[in-house]
Amino acid sequence: MINGDVSFWWNQIGMPVTRPDLAADVDADVCIVGAGYTGLWTAYYLKLLAPDMRVVVLEQRFAGYGASGRNGGWLTNSITGGRDHFVAEFGRERVGDWQRRVNETVDEVIAMCAREKIDADIVKGGEFNVAMNRAQQARLEAWASSEAQWPMADAQLLSADEARDRIAIAGTTGGIWHPHAARIQPAKLARGLADACERLGVVIHENTTVTEIVPGAARSKHGTVRADFVIRATEGFTANFAQAHREWLPMNSSLVVTTPLPNAVWEEIGWVGRDVVGDMAHGYFYAQRTADDRIALGGRGKPYRFGSKTDNDGSTHEHTVEALRALLVRLFPVLGHDAHRPELDHAWSGVLGVPRDWSATVGLDAQTGFGWAGGYVGTGVTSTNLAGRTLADLVLRRDTDITHLPWVNHHVRRWEMEPLRWTAVHALYAMYGMADRSEARGRTSTSPLASLADAISGRVH
Ligand SMILES: Cc1cc2nc3c(=O)[nH]c(=O)nc-3n(C[C@H](O)[C@H](O)[C@H](O)COP(=O)(O)OP(=O)(O)OC[C@H]3O[C@@H](n4cnc5c(N)ncnc54)[C@H](O)[C@@H]3O)c2cc1C
Repeated sequence: MINGDVSFWWNQIGMPVTRPDLAADVDADVCIVGAGYTGLWTAYYLKLLAPDMRVVVLEQRFAGYGASGRNGGWLTNSITGGRDHFVAEFGRERVGDWQRRVNETVDEVIAMCAREKIDADIVKGGEFNVAMNRAQQARLEAWASSEAQWPMADAQLLSADEARDRIAIAGTTGGIWHPHAARIQPAKLARGLADACERLGVVIHENTTVTEIVPGAARSKHGTVRADFVIRATEGFTANFAQAHREWLPMNSSLVVTTPLPNAVWEEIGWVGRDVVGDMAHGYFYAQRTADDRIALGGRGKPYRFGSKTDNDGSTHEHTVEALRALLVRLFPVLGHDAHRPELDHAWSGVLGVPRDWSATVGLDAQTGFGWAGGYVGTGVTSTNLAGRTLADLVLRRDTDITHLPWVNHHVRRWEMEPLRWTAVHALYAMYGMADRSEARGRTSTSPLASLADAISGRVH
């Protein structure tokens, strides 16, 4: 089994040959720091709308090195941290409109991939979440009734039998499914998007770490890019900038992938619709059936490293790998039989950015030309596209519907200093773990430990 080495997704298609680094000082109209989906979508839409604009992207390793080349491949319609807490300030109509835009963004990504001939193994099979005990079932039903109160609601509550017919997950008590989600191969999307940007004339420099962003410039030891607009698109790595160290907490998430599974196993499991799949646990899992019939399964792993340290090429703690292996067999007992026991081909981790209120943001300071987007927690695959389009509109001073969505220019306070940050995050996840175990033993409602953890974190998990 490979452990680390960025991700299975990159190993599957082959590590990229890196593009030339920045070799001298350069002038541009827009400089984007970070070549993940956020940076690349921003560059892409800028050049679509303003072909003459000089757009330079600086990337510390290679395009798609971060979460964009490592994620679970859920192109889904999540609004990070949920919609409800925006209602008091913006009203249900505007928040509902935001949700509609995110739903449409799933289709925009699919359409753009078709336009640019990017084959990212996309199948729009919807998002499916299951409950596996009474407390999870209660949360699932509460979620379904809260969804039903929105005009654009189209989530379907499924009985245990209906849910098991979709995907035979052991112990399923019920499910919820909605159509606004697709499975993707993340690295294929990142690679294709970077190539599409270059075809439009975007210049991407790799192996170029930006050490400082100041108004009108991004500095690296290779040189400086001077630009009217500098966009920070570094998400989970943002803590490495001294001035933004406590803005978004870098959180790890980990995945394992099996070898391709034989037809006999798929006949037992089902999963013909290729839906992306998760559960209602506080420390939830997320999974996809890959184009070559593997299961890729993700979960929280070791959540946080002291001092907001970010990455080691995705190398994953043995304990996390074993926990994911055990979870796989618990979900799909057929994989525990000697005849079908799969090997794990690869385990890896990635880093994502968590704001203090768990809500993503995108914005531009018109005075300084500094722009940003991120804090998507684990739900940025779709939102990065909306962020990229929004940043392009803001830079070009286009007053559009999306430049007024509730997350635009949303600000929140910083995280606590260390060691409080480390202690709080570890305590939170220990509490969520204990709550999940107590719910699995038969609690009928959400464990008070989880409610306490929600109160500390400021968000329901
Ligand atoms: C393991 C994992 C699973 C996930 N699963 C899902 C999922 O299934 N669905 C979903 O919606 N979301 C998921 N997410 C979240 C999603 O992947 C991210 O929200 C999204 O990819 C963020 O894109 P980004 O471009 O903002 O950040 P990134 O992809 O992290 O890109 C940031 C880039 O900036 C570069 N960079 C950083 N610092 C510097 C610097 N100083 N100078 C130059 N370059 C720099 C990095 O190398 C990186 O390439 C997951 C995340 C992880 C880690």
